[in-house]
Amino acid sequence: MEAHLKELQERSWALRWRNPAFCKRLLYDALQQDPTPDPGNRPLQFNLAWLERWSGHFDAAAKLADEAFSMMDPKQDPEGWSELLVIKSVCVYSLGELSKADAILGESLEILGAGAHGPAGIEPLTVLANMCAYYHDYEKAQSKLQEAMSIADRLGLVYERSHILQTLSRTELRCGTVEAAVDAAKACLADALEHRNAVNLPYAYEVLGAALVEAGALEEARRCAAKGLAASQFSQDQRVACHLYYVLGLSLFEEKRFDEARAELENGLLNAVGADYNHWMRSFYLKLSQTHEALEEHRSALDYLKAYVTLQKKMFTEETERQSNDFRNRMEFRLAHSKADYERELRTRTETLNAELQEANTSLRELNARIEFNALHDALTGIGNRRMMSKFFETTRTGMAPGVKIAAILIDLDRFKSVNDHYGHSVGDQVIKAIATRLSDLLHEDETIVRMGGDEFLILSTRRIGADSLSTLAEEIVREINLPISIEGSEDRTVGASVGVAVQPNGPDLEYELLRNADEAMYQAKKTGRNRSCLHSSLDVSLPQGANAS
Ligand code: GH3
Ligand code: MG
Repeated sequence: MEAHLKELQERSWALRWRNPAFCKRLLYDALQQDPTPDPGNRPLQFNLAWLERWSGHFDAAAKLADEAFSMMDPKQDPEGWSELLVIKSVCVYSLGELSKADAILGESLEILGAGAHGPAGIEPLTVLANMCAYYHDYEKAQSKLQEAMSIADRLGLVYERSHILQTLSRTELRCGTVEAAVDAAKACLADALEHRNAVNLPYAYEVLGAALVEAGALEEARRCAAKGLAASQFSQDQRVACHLYYVLGLSLFEEKRFDEARAELENGLLNAVGADYNHWMRSFYLKLSQTHEALEEHRSALDYLKAYVTLQKKMFTEETERQSNDFRNRMEFRLAHSKADYERELRTRTETLNAELQEANTSLRELNARIEFNALHDALTGIGNRRMMSKFFETTRTGMAPGVKIAAILIDLDRFKSVNDHYGHSVGDQVIKAIATRLSDLLHEDETIVRMGGDEFLILSTRRIGADSLSTLAEEIVREINLPISIEGSEDRTVGASVGVAVQPNGPDLEYELLRNADEAMYQAKKTGRNRSCLHSSLDVSLPQGANAS
C-alpha cells in the first residue's frame, strides 16, 4: 500500500503541470503522515513550496521553502537549492521587497554556476525579467526572456516555454506594445492548451484577457476571462481570479453594460476581500464607484469612493515606507555590487597590465643583454673584444686596490696570412675560432681573453703574475696552438704563434704601457724565430730568457 502511494505521489509530481491541485493534496497528506524526508530525495516541503508558489500562495510557499532549506544541502543539490531560492525570491517580490528579491535571484544564479545556461537557469531568468519590467527596464527584461527562451527551445522544455511567453506578454503590455502582448499571450495559451498545462492555463487566459481589453477586443477578452475563471478553480489562485473578474467588469463597463459590470466587479471584490488583496480591493472600489456613478446610484458611488480613498491612503503610507526602505536597500545593494565589480575590474586590469609590463621588461632585459653581449664580444669567436679589454681594466681599477698587478699575454698567429692565401678565408676563420676556444679552456674564470683583431689575442690576468706561472702558461699556449686543428671538409691544419708576456701595476696610464710591453715581448718572439714566447724585460730579469722559449 505504501509503495503504491509513493508511486502515486511520484507520478502526480511528474504531472504537476497538468494537475497541481491533485498533486498538492497528495503531498500534504503524505507530509502529515510522515514529515521526515526520504534520504537521497528532496523533502516534500520542496515540492509543496513549488506548488504553492504556482498557485499564488506566497506566504505558504515561503514557509515551506524555509523548511526545505533546513533539510537540503546546496553542495549536494545546487539545482534544487537554486530553485528554492527562486521560489523565495518570487515570494519576497510579491511582498514588494524588490531589492531583496533581486539579491536572492543573483544568489540562485551564482549557485548554478555554468548550470545557469541549462534548464535550471530558465526560472531565475524569467523572474528577473518580470522584475526588470517592473522597474521599467523593458530592454533588459526582453533580453532575459530571449535568453530563457533559447534555453527552453534548445532543450524542448514546453511547460517552461509557456511560462516565458506569459511573462513576455506581461512585459509587452507594460511597455505599451499591445499587439505584441496579444501575440505572446495567444502563443502562451496555444502552448498551455496543447500540452495540457493546467498551471499556466489561468495565467495564459489572464494575460490574453488583459491584452485584449487594452486592444479594444472586449467581447473576446470576456470570453477569455470566463475560461480563465473556470481554469483558475483548478489552481485556486485567487489573485488570478481577481484579475480575470476585473477584465470581465472592465470590458462590460467599456460597453456601457453597467449592471453586468457591477455584478462582475462585485464578484471580484468578494474574491479580493476574501484573500485580503489590497491592490485588487482598491481597483474594484474605484471601478465600482464609477459604475454606480454611471448607474446614477450616487450614494453607493460615494461609499465606494470613500472606501477607495481610505484604502489608498493606507496603502500609500505603507508603500511610501516600503519604497523608501526598498530604495535604501537597493542603493546599498547596488553600491556594494558596483564597488565589488569596480574592484574586480581594477584587479583584472592591474593584473593584465602587470603581466604586459613584466613581459616587456623581460624582452627589454633580453634585448639589453644581447646588445651588451654584442658590444663586448667578438662576432666570429664569441670571446671578448677590445671593449671587453677596456671594461676589464675599468673594473679592475675600481674594484681593486691601486698597485695590484695585471699580467698581459699577447698572442699573434704566425704567418697567418698564408693560411688564408692557401686554404681560403673560411678555413682561416675556423682556425681562429678553434684557437679562441682552446685558449679560453686554458684560463680560470676570473681571467679574461679578448680578440684584439685579425689573428691577435690578448689574455689578461690578475691571478697569475709571477714570472714562473706566466712562462708556464705562455708555453702551454704555444703548445695548445700547435696542436692540429680539424677543419670541416678539409685536412687538419697546424699553426704557430708568437706570445709576448708583460706585467704592470694597475693604473690608467700604466695600462697603455702594459700593452706596449706585451707587444714588444711578442715582437721579440717573432724576431727570435716565431712559435715561441717571450717575457718582457721589465718582468723578471732574473729569469733566464731561454726558459720562456717554447
Ligand atoms: P706574422 O707571422 O708576421 O704575424 O704574419 P701574418 O701573416 O700573421 O701577418 P699579420 O699578423 O700582420 O696579419 C694577420 C693576417 O690575418 C692578415 C689577414 O690576412 C688575416 N686576418 C685578419 N683578420 C682575419 C679574419 O677575421 N679572418 C681570417 N680568415 N683572416 C684574418
Ligand atoms: Mg700574425
